[in-house]
Amino acid sequence: MSMHIARKRFGQNFLVDRQVISDIVSAVAPKRDDCVVEIGPGLGALTDPLLQRLDHLHVVEIDRDIVARLRPRYSPQKLTIHEGDALDFDFSSLVDGSGRKLHVVGNLPYNISTPLLFHLAGFAGCVYDMHFMLQKEVVERLVAEPGTSDFGRLSVMLQYRFVMDQLLDVPPECFSPAPKVDSAVVRLIPRPPDELSARDEARFAALVSAAFAQRRKMLRNNLKGILGDSGFAQLGIAPTARAEELSVADYIRIANSLH
Ligand code: SAM
Repeated sequence: MSMHIARKRFGQNFLVDRQVISDIVSAVAPKRDDCVVEIGPGLGALTDPLLQRLDHLHVVEIDRDIVARLRPRYSPQKLTIHEGDALDFDFSSLVDGSGRKLHVVGNLPYNISTPLLFHLAGFAGCVYDMHFMLQKEVVERLVAEPGTSDFGRLSVMLQYRFVMDQLLDVPPECFSPAPKVDSAVVRLIPRPPDELSARDEARFAALVSAAFAQRRKMLRNNLKGILGDSGFAQLGIAPTARAEELSVADYIRIANSLH
């Protein structure tokens, strides 16, 4: 088969570094009968070693040419290919009657990483864990502590739902073509449902968006019409604080105080 030309619009930077590939698979640590889905298998850098350790693997891939290369390589009993956009994919459809939760893996296309993380957060209830290669800057925002400039809407919304660890830093030379940015691998583990204490998650999400709408401004301004001076006083939160200074727990408290 002819050589595949990497497509920029699909964020195609293929992993070529053996050590990094093996480190990712070790971090995922799949057991033979786990239910695993890989997002964006590409030319199979992770797919091959994952399949060596699994009875079966699901993949979601948008690029038809790549799907056409993958099909003849594996038997349909081992590999189920879902051709399409991971942003629209219903990950809960992969959970079968066995009660096994999903392991989600991927060297993600960086151009859609934020919307994809939000999409996946919606399936946290049926997920066991997720391991992703992302732009390092995005991983730093995911794991950021309050009070730092990396702490934003992405940090609050994803930390609400997941415990996250930055596992591995990966330089551009580990990919072909090399991306212009540094990368990192992050692990996300869903929090148990009883830890998710926002009474109305849509309201919580809307509050966090409003708070960070203009991050230089004081919360009093960003939350105008949502939380008044007496509301701030009752919660013991300074109206002059900036969005990045509040913790996830503070945002939950504010959201739960709104009617
Ligand atoms: N896993 C391979 C590797 O590590 O070498 C490829 C990683 S490459 C960074 C991203 C992969 O995601 C490509 O195969 C690309 O075609 C695929 N992709 C891009 N956008 C996608 C989308 N919206 N849904 C599903 N797959 C997508």
